[in-house]
Amino acid sequence: MKNSFLIVLLGLVIISCKEDASHRGDGDTQQKEAVEIKDTINDISIGAKESYPTLENMADSTFIRLADYSGDFAYDMRYATENNFLKAQVYDCAECYTRVKTAKALIAANDDFKKAGVRIRFFDCYRPNSVQYKMWKIVPNPQYVANPVKGSIHNKGGAVDITLETLDGEVLDMGTDFDFFGKRAYHDMTDLPQNILDNRKLLKETMEKHGFWSIRTEWWHYNLSSASKDPIADFKWECEH
Ligand SMILES: [Zn+2]
Repeated sequence: MKNSFLIVLLGLVIISCKEDASHRGDGDTQQKEAVEIKDTINDISIGAKESYPTLENMADSTFIRLADYSGDFAYDMRYATENNFLKAQVYDCAECYTRVKTAKALIAANDDFKKAGVRIRFFDCYRPNSVQYKMWKIVPNPQYVANPVKGSIHNKGGAVDITLETLDGEVLDMGTDFDFFGKRAYHDMTDLPQNILDNRKLLKETMEKHGFWSIRTEWWHYNLSSASKDPIADFKWECEH
């Protein structure tokens, strides 16, 4: 109890120092505070370091921090909070890492999205295999969590969970929240309002154009086609940004 009070207090102090703490909509005050604190956790510092090599000069298999190579993405890294279906924080901090080849494809896709007035908002990116074990321990059910022994393409640095938001930060309606396990999240669910179908179509067609494929039951999940044979990784990022 004492710890969570301190975390809330720290969150509020950080929010009061921030000009634009929330991009979210309405809700009651208590809920809003919780969401704002989560948003604070998800503030990913953006900006390339000049000493970094360019993506073109690196091996495709290298892991990179996406925000170091593009400032045009938005982040809502749910597994770095308790706002996910596990109801548990499994990352020490919110970061989005991918392999170089995945990053190149994501940047190209995002350039296309920007022409349509939107951008990618990430829920999850590369996931170390040890985190997959953590998730499996909480929910040992292959219907919801990939078995860590076999691994997921997230563990290979080639899968991302994403949605779209406008360039002003307004999230597009995709019909369900991230990690909604049910028919409404399926790509073949067509009994949905037209604007939702249009939003999903824009997401899917653009990602496919840039070498990603989708899975039938999750509108948010995209795999880079060339990543399926890559090895499972357990590279861990530093929480210092
Ligand atoms: Zn996924």
